[in-house]
Amino acid sequence: MIVLGIETSCDETAAAVVDDTRRIRSNPVLSQLDEHRPFGGVVPEIAARSHLDHLDSLILRALDEADVGFGDLDGVAATGGPGLIGGVFVGVMMAKAIAAARDLPFVAVNHLEAHALTARLTDGIEFPYLLLLVSGGHCQLVAVNGVGDYTRYGGTVDDAVGEAFDKTAKLLDLGYPGGPAVERVARDGDPLRFALPRPMLGRPGCDFSFSGLKTAVRQARQGLDSFAAQDAADLAASFQQAVAEVLADRCRHALDRFQQEHGKAGPLVVAGGVAANRTLRATLSEVVGGHDAALLAPPLPLCTDNAAMIAWTGVERLRLGLSDPLDFAPRPRWPLEDLRVPSPVSPA
Ligand code: ATP
Ligand code: FE
Ligand code: MG
Repeated sequence: MIVLGIETSCDETAAAVVDDTRRIRSNPVLSQLDEHRPFGGVVPEIAARSHLDHLDSLILRALDEADVGFGDLDGVAATGGPGLIGGVFVGVMMAKAIAAARDLPFVAVNHLEAHALTARLTDGIEFPYLLLLVSGGHCQLVAVNGVGDYTRYGGTVDDAVGEAFDKTAKLLDLGYPGGPAVERVARDGDPLRFALPRPMLGRPGCDFSFSGLKTAVRQARQGLDSFAAQDAADLAASFQQAVAEVLADRCRHALDRFQQEHGKAGPLVVAGGVAANRTLRATLSEVVGGHDAALLAPPLPLCTDNAAMIAWTGVERLRLGLSDPLDFAPRPRWPLEDLRVPSPVSPA
């Protein structure tokens, strides 16, 4: 089975060809970073127009690199939400058009499900497992029981963790996108210099909160008479340390609950752009070590937004006989728990 995947929900235009042997035949991604940088964040209207400008040629490139034609495809999958609705429309309309013209099944993929299933593409792992999704738009802990079958353990009550990194970078004059910049300057910083709060630490459950932390960073900076490179480094390191400790605490709770419900302590899969952070990875390694569980982090290009994960979700759904009608309406909001599949038994 060969599936074309399309991703247009945020600021990456992506197309990919993946097959049911878990082979990624092609996976080109066009980042719109340079188009959004002057505005310090993603501008939805610019994003949608840019997807429109680039998607058709990118699909042809994906097919070409995979050495397949439209006639070789067994299905077309596109992100159907959640995401910036203008961009999602562009990808969904393109996928529907190809499906209609070629009489192929169409799969409207939930972007979060695609992140959740990526470890099955990269590592072939079995259900169930625990997922920590940490990206610019999302921060949640989810038990992945099967295709379409998720139990949300907790999520952020305010900002996503990537958003907190981006806002902190802005407060420290580090530019956009912020996560990699914060990590870079934090390397020369003292994580103990600023006593920042650890929101939610020690509380029961698996929810997160980051807005107070961001406010504390602002106040710490305002409290300084001058602001030199070392101050930025120390503040970045202190922020990163606080985030790592909070994530570790929440993951411990989630691993405990997962153990109770599934009789095993993992594995823990971490996905999303923030999974690139080395401090975070090191902290999570310690956490899973304490629980005798494995930590799995897909390679970075598959942690951030890409279309291979969309195509793969298409494979997973099509082989369970699941596809979507051509009148599917894109969904700006689409929580994982809204996915319902009549308890399919997935082939490994
Ligand atoms: P979503 O996938 O939720 O729709 P998104 O496209 O913003 O949103 P990703 O592309 O997965 O998410 O990740 C981007 C986010 O990851 C940004 O917020 C960025 O700051 C953060 N990020 C990237 N690298 C790092 C890093 N090394 N440390 C911390 N954060 C990082
Ligand atoms: Fe994403
Ligand atoms: Mg992105």
